[in-house]
Amino acid sequence: MGGGHAHLFVLESLARDDWPAVEVTLVSPEPHHHYSGMVPGYLCGSYDEARLRFDLRALCTAAGARFRPGRAVALDLEARTLALEEGPSLPFDLVSFDIGSVPAALDTPGVREHAATVRPMSRAIELRERLDALIGRGAPEAPVEVAVVGAGAGGFEVALAMEARIRASGSTPRVRLLEAGPEPLAEFEPDVRRRTTRILSDRGVELRTGARVTAVRPDRVEVEGSPPINSSLTVWLAGAAAPPLFGRGDGAGPPTDEAGFLRVDRTLRAVGGVPVWGAGDCIALEGHPEMPRAGVYAVRQGPVLARNLRAALEGEEPESYSPQESFLSIMNTADGRALLRWKRLVSHSPPAWWLKDWIDRRFMRRFGLS
Ligand SMILES: Cc1cc2nc3c(=O)[nH]c(=O)nc-3n(C[C@H](O)[C@H](O)[C@H](O)COP(=O)(O)OP(=O)(O)OC[C@H]3O[C@@H](n4cnc5c(N)ncnc54)[C@H](O)[C@@H]3O)c2cc1C
Repeated sequence: MGGGHAHLFVLESLARDDWPAVEVTLVSPEPHHHYSGMVPGYLCGSYDEARLRFDLRALCTAAGARFRPGRAVALDLEARTLALEEGPSLPFDLVSFDIGSVPAALDTPGVREHAATVRPMSRAIELRERLDALIGRGAPEAPVEVAVVGAGAGGFEVALAMEARIRASGSTPRVRLLEAGPEPLAEFEPDVRRRTTRILSDRGVELRTGARVTAVRPDRVEVEGSPPINSSLTVWLAGAAAPPLFGRGDGAGPPTDEAGFLRVDRTLRAVGGVPVWGAGDCIALEGHPEMPRAGVYAVRQGPVLARNLRAALEGEEPESYSPQESFLSIMNTADGRALLRWKRLVSHSPPAWWLKDWIDRRFMRRFGLS
């Protein structure tokens, strides 16, 4: 289920390695997977869409797997079937989930109706179209007012990418980055946070912390305890929630943590011996509640997942996955530079952007540009 990062490795292994006789179906709502690492670059115009798109159908063909368009909506472990949004259920002997997360707090009034999001990443196409339409609509001297809700790494990059795109069009950007917590990029060290605050302010992006958004309207954002903020386009990046299909560990579904993420052990298999595996944002790894939900983790899990699915079919011992303690983080600041953090090194520079671009393009090449 899902053509996320880790499943790209499973498809690669199916195409390359000697698996036992197995019938594989990949279910995905879309025939493409969009690579999140390049989404900010796409939004600001450094890449066109084809650059960040994996062709899941072509990868399935190479892997001898069937591609089934659709979305899994419920898992019945007793019957060993997956209900899909449309069409007959899918029976399985073994199932693996790499379906990512969903935007948190979607029930906030007006979010579903008016806000844009980039989860799944294919929604970035719609976001860029909406932004371009907005830029084209206003009088040239009128500022283009947009808001990004959620100042995590993704919100930081998206706010700067939108600022760059508006400015490059000749219009005046007025971008607000709204964060409910006391600081932006809470998952990063203080010196990274200081840098991000300075970068935002140098670019004229207004950062408001302690700003809890209570509603999104077509032309504004309502914030608890403050006057509304003008925004003709609001992007919702308020964190990652569990996909609803796992339920809450009750009923016939798989084991989950309290937030509804699939509970897996170090072999990436669901706890309790059920024939369910998982990787990426949709899992809660036992013993590592602090593991960040970032693509780099899904990527490292991919080869382990592939080997362990194969081992399960062959009756062999699985191997263990250990999350890396720290990871290289490079955020695109959409000005020909990127903000790099590696252990204690922090650098905002053009070489950081070249490095990010090189790493991302290399990843795309590995799985074939569509
Ligand atoms: C703007 C932005 C930039 C980011 N940049 C980076 C970065 O540079 N580096 C980094 O490490 N992380 C980055 N992240 C985080 C990263 O996007 C996620 O951690 C990563 O995409 C998770 O990968 P995944 O394989 O778990 O799932 P995803 O990449 O989310 O893929 C899941 C797939 O499953 C499909 N799917 C969903 N539900 C179902 C269903 N019910 N049935 C079938 N299929 C389904 C989806 O359509 C999707 O194709 C960024 C996030 C954002 C918002």
